[in-house]
Amino acid sequence: DAKRKGGARCEVFDPSMRQRLVSRVSLEAELREAIDTRRMRAFFQPIVDLGTGTIRGFEALARWPAGPSEVSPARFIPVAEEAGLIGALGRLMLHDACRTLGDWRGRGVVERDTTVSVNVSPRQLTDPALINEVRSALADSGLPGSSLVLEITESTLIERPEQIRDKLHELLALGVHIHLDDFGTGYSSLTVLHHFPGNTLKIDRAFVDTLANREESQVIIRSIIGLAHNLGLRVIAEGIEHPGQIEVLTTLGCEYGQGYYYGRPLPAADLELLLADGGTRHVHSVAVRR
Ligand code: C2E
Ligand code: MG
Ligand code: MG
Ligand code: MG
Repeated sequence: DAKRKGGARCEVFDPSMRQRLVSRVSLEAELREAIDTRRMRAFFQPIVDLGTGTIRGFEALARWPAGPSEVSPARFIPVAEEAGLIGALGRLMLHDACRTLGDWRGRGVVERDTTVSVNVSPRQLTDPALINEVRSALADSGLPGSSLVLEITESTLIERPEQIRDKLHELLALGVHIHLDDFGTGYSSLTVLHHFPGNTLKIDRAFVDTLANREESQVIIRSIIGLAHNLGLRVIAEGIEHPGQIEVLTTLGCEYGQGYYYGRPLPAADLELLLADGGTRHVHSVAVRR
């Protein structure tokens, strides 16, 4: 009977499963190659002061141009984490981001207090190598720590609060900033937020998206901003696509924003051309005049 079961198990492993396993294995191999050959790279999206329309910084987002299309980070970041490739990917992003900002800063393309934000996944934060990676990315690019922002998510804080908090304090000692990403989507308790050592919280796009058509979203955003301000944190709203959202957000006291309205993530060279033209600033100055 056991034999029969074994046979059945073999049949359960049908062609579509085999296909999935093969594609997963080849995805890992291709991802590894994309990181090694630096085909994987950072694109940059502006983060803007909602009141004045000036660019405060850029978020570096991993892009993997694979053939004619591109594989979304939503797909390859989890694979990188599971396959043990997130350290290499994170290192690449850290260096790419710092090198780009250092270059722009050196040539006066951006103001000297402009920052670059890099996403850091939970696995990277528990890796003892991270501190030295950050140090070397700063040293190689000639940037002070204050030019770099590390974005972490709520789940990072919840999993190992003590260990993570110590790590964050070590990073803060380098002068870097820590921002709490995708706020509102996780389950962070007030205690976790109370002990968050960073200075800024990013409201998840989900709430900004529905700002116009769900009264709830406005209530939630107002509460998040109030909570943040009471804790001495500043707020960045993600996913701004329409001027109407800017109006509501500024009325609620939100300091910064980012989204397709201001600019999509772009390769450094393309963004630099836009900046030289006053591109993203121009878009905004039109919006605030309204
Ligand atoms: P995130 O850190 O919250 O990044 C913001 C995401 O929102 C980006 O998606 C960005 O392209 C998208 N976005 C920005 N403005 C708008 C808008 O107005 N409308 C819409 N619909 N989307 C907007 P992306 O680049 O696909 O990245 C998705 C997630 O993947 C990121 O979310 C981040 O969690 C992760 N990720 C991306 N790059 C890295 C990386 O280098 N390392 C790590 N650990 N995670 C990364
Ligand atoms: Mg982010
Ligand atoms: Mg985010
Ligand atoms: Mg998000």
